[in-house]
Amino acid sequence: MLSDEQLLRYSRQIMLPEVDIDGQEAWLRARVLIIGLGGLGSPVAMYLAAAGVGELVLVDDDHVELTNLQRQIVHTTATIGEPKVESAAHALAQLNPEVKVRAINRRLDQAELAEQVAAVDLVVDCTDNFGTRFAINAACVAHLKPLVSGAAIRMEGQVAVYDPRQPDSPCYQCLYKEGEEEGLTCSESGVLAPLVGIIGSVQAMEALKVLAGIGKPLVGKLLLLDGRSMEWRSLKLRKDNACPVCRATASE
Ligand SMILES: [Zn+2]
Repeated sequence: MLSDEQLLRYSRQIMLPEVDIDGQEAWLRARVLIIGLGGLGSPVAMYLAAAGVGELVLVDDDHVELTNLQRQIVHTTATIGEPKVESAAHALAQLNPEVKVRAINRRLDQAELAEQVAAVDLVVDCTDNFGTRFAINAACVAHLKPLVSGAAIRMEGQVAVYDPRQPDSPCYQCLYKEGEEEGLTCSESGVLAPLVGIIGSVQAMEALKVLAGIGKPLVGKLLLLDGRSMEWRSLKLRKDNACPVCRATASE
């Protein structure tokens, strides 16, 4: 049952026929793991909190630095030096005190990652290194949790949704093989501030769609943005039948 205050706070999305009370209740019941509270994690965490996702689990082992503030909009000049998860938790509490936020200020080992993934409804990957991305993907495949993956660098970005609950959904590792990755980060290559906002906002949108069963999420598709021409392309992704991570779930 939604309170009068909740009906008001979320009225502009509850009035959408696809959302309605049922969609809002699905979000209020949902628990989402956000890994990385940088440029992508900032808009993801802020939009999911604003939209009323019931519980957000934030994972990051970094501290806020001056060079982050150009694009990591959940943090402020006043929180420089603080752990990113605490800086973000503070901002989210001000945005929507209803949302339960758990802050984990360390890098998770494999067992901890598996435990956190198993305990949520959906995972949003907002990290910027391939090793972590592969580990998150493997945990999501093992525990059948939908994964919303995003990447942004320079003026280019991409988003995809992997949903291991669907037998024909590819996984992140169907697309990228360990060892042949580029491995570029924003600290090495640069990034234009709103680019991470655009890509992170698409990730938040896809997460809300998956959680409430709305529309057609980007499962089996890779959405690519070239910010210079502001052109979007969508590539069809196929499951790799030789993929070492998701092959087993396909044959079951
Ligand atoms: Zn795969």
